[in-house]
Amino acid sequence: MESWEADILVVGAGAAGLSVALHAAPRRVLLLAPEGPDATATSLAKGGIAAPIGRGDSVALHAADTLKAADHSASEATITSIVSAAGGAIDFLRESGLRFDGATDAPHLHLEAGHSIPRILHADGDRTGAAIQQALWARTRESAHVTIRRDLEAVDLLTGPDGVAGALAVRAGGSAVAIHATETVLATGGIGQLFAATTNPLHASGHGLAIALAHGAAVAGLEFVQFHPTALRCDSDPLPLLTEALRGAGARLIADGRAFMAAIDPRGDLAPRDVVARAVWSEQSAGREVALDATGIFRSDAGAEFPGALAACVAHGIDPARTPIPVTCAAHYHMGGIAIDASGHTSLPGLWAVGEVAHTGLHGANRLASNSLLEAVVVGSAAGRALAEGPRRERRIGTRPAVPAPFDASRPEWRRLREILWSAMGPVRRDAGLADALLQLERLESTLAPAQRPLALRVALAQSMIRAARARHESRGAHWRADYPNRDRRRDGADALGIMRAH
Ligand SMILES: Cc1cc2nc3c(=O)[nH]c(=O)nc-3n(C[C@H](O)[C@H](O)[C@H](O)COP(=O)(O)OP(=O)(O)OC[C@H]3O[C@@H](n4cnc5c(N)ncnc54)[C@H](O)[C@@H]3O)c2cc1C
Repeated sequence: MESWEADILVVGAGAAGLSVALHAAPRRVLLLAPEGPDATATSLAKGGIAAPIGRGDSVALHAADTLKAADHSASEATITSIVSAAGGAIDFLRESGLRFDGATDAPHLHLEAGHSIPRILHADGDRTGAAIQQALWARTRESAHVTIRRDLEAVDLLTGPDGVAGALAVRAGGSAVAIHATETVLATGGIGQLFAATTNPLHASGHGLAIALAHGAAVAGLEFVQFHPTALRCDSDPLPLLTEALRGAGARLIADGRAFMAAIDPRGDLAPRDVVARAVWSEQSAGREVALDATGIFRSDAGAEFPGALAACVAHGIDPARTPIPVTCAAHYHMGGIAIDASGHTSLPGLWAVGEVAHTGLHGANRLASNSLLEAVVVGSAAGRALAEGPRRERRIGTRPAVPAPFDASRPEWRRLREILWSAMGPVRRDAGLADALLQLERLESTLAPAQRPLALRVALAQSMIRAARARHESRGAHWRADYPNRDRRRDGADALGIMRAH
């Protein structure tokens, strides 16, 4: 096996990993970016990035909206610290070459559900995420202190007596490299691919979180998964997301041809995301075909405002001006993750985490729209600065784990895992379903050969998520228990998140 030495190893090249890499100068960074810059959730983000920079807005107002969306279960200190840093994050993105829509000194600010005032910045219209990814990637490529490797995927951590000492990485062909690093940063994104229906890109299968969990890192909020109510129901993976702005413009959800939201919530189709996702789930579970009737929009000039939705429909043979668009709810964002402080330190010496793989306490039980790109850039930048300025550890040679077979997403066991999680851990959960899912996963685990460690780690992560959901005897934010439909007010506050060690 090849053996390399690195100062800082950053695993993942979305908004979070690139922000770390750029701020860590002058220290030397080895950045793993398997499949390059387009294989990230960052590049798929269509909405935008939130910042309280408009007239009449304030950190206090943005913080209050975030806490409300979090269903009284976020860390107020974390919210204030991240939201206060939003202006600096926007400046950093501009310095990196990003042009926000509107004038430089007065960017257009958009309103989104859950925000009480317009504060969402867009770049290149509904391609904000791709524009952020492009700008940060281009600047990173020009940075002499960063070496980018597109051919390596981390499969495990190297550990020594003083904590984490790097990562084991493999190439697509199976050859392995032990990367001994002074500091290791996980920036591997979310977990949506653990579910059969998701808007998340293929790499977002929870591997970084699963590895950290296996090595005993503290984690928090694993049960909190946000579901998007309207992904295009089709055979592609990930599923294309149909923006909620379509319902804002008058599109209506129908099941077997009949509108159903008005009977469920007085806000009808404009009810909050988790309410609509649960309603879609219930209709689907009753065997009805759910669709989004946007024919009125696409027959009129308003259709021009939704080029992304139109392109996704056309690519799947649907004319949305004539036919309602088939939709499903889908796993979209993980509020839980590796527990970190404001600069990305985990509970394990030598290991850092940033972005969606991490849990700062900002989102609580539910994420406010457009706060995740903000968190990725703010906390990624803070971690990079802490690495550049903080005390240096001595580099140690970590013990090498056995080299596993590369993760193979075409295996039937992986498909089975995704189906089990989707049916038990979707928008509506019950104890009986969760208990049964644990048994099914135990059986699945017993069939895996030792070389299938990447899959076994994902199974263990799924089990930890289910145990966390079983232990939460309440409905809070995106976690809905049909057998405990109320919020347990005794758990309000940051403690509601319950930081835990999973073993
Ligand atoms: C369709 C969609 C729309 C969204 N819209 C918005 C929005 O409008 N506003 C908003 O704020 N948020 C939005 N989000 C959420 C937001 O995009 C993500 O939370 C954010 O981009 C996460 O950034 P990240 O850097 O943590 O992860 P990512 O951008 O996903 O990057 C993860 C990186 O890790 C790499 N990686 C993963 N596993 C490994 C491994 N084992 N070894 C090496 N590398 C690995 C990947 O290849 C990738 O480079 C959206 C998400 C989706 C899916």
